[in-house]
Amino acid sequence: PSRTVALVGRPNVGKSRLFNRLCGRRLSIVHDMPGVTRDLISAEVRDDYVLLDTGGIGMELEMTPKKIATAAEDQVDFAIRAASVILFVVDVRSGITALDEMVAEKLRRYGKQVLLVANKVDNQEEEADADEFSRLGLGDAYTVSAEHGRGITVLNEAIDEML
Ligand code: GDP
Ligand code: MG
Repeated sequence: PSRTVALVGRPNVGKSRLFNRLCGRRLSIVHDMPGVTRDLISAEVRDDYVLLDTGGIGMELEMTPKKIATAAEDQVDFAIRAASVILFVVDVRSGITALDEMVAEKLRRYGKQVLLVANKVDNQEEEADADEFSRLGLGDAYTVSAEHGRGITVLNEAIDEML
């Protein structure tokens, strides 16, 4: 797991978009429909670390809320074993959900290095909306827009510091 970074988080928060943004290539499928990333995707970033998109682990075609929760747990279990740093991605548009809280609790329990990333902060006005994520108990969220590239430089620096 040394120098391996894994993305975890609910379906649709933008993990695959962020994966592509960080590795600079369109390797992971981005889609409006939850559960589209079927497999584990990995890429080497800046000859520096291996990035994993765990979004497909545990995903099936027909996803009930219960199955989504189980898949999220499987992703976290995998990431805890496989990575030295975990990027926990949340969506500023939806705010904190029950599933976010479940994932956060699990991550806190394991004591892994976690960077909380609030995605879809597409402009300055939306920055403050990310404040609430500190309630997840994983520190303040790094605010990014995977779509537009906002906040990516700062996030990259934070990743480098943890590796
Ligand atoms: P995943 O299921 O977590 O891998 O999410 P995806 O990467 O597939 O993205 C889900 C949806 O969110 C897609 O429609 C993306 O275009 C959209 N999305 C991802 N990142 C951003 C962002 O920074 N801003 C906005 N506005 N939409 C985003
Ligand atoms: Mg995905």
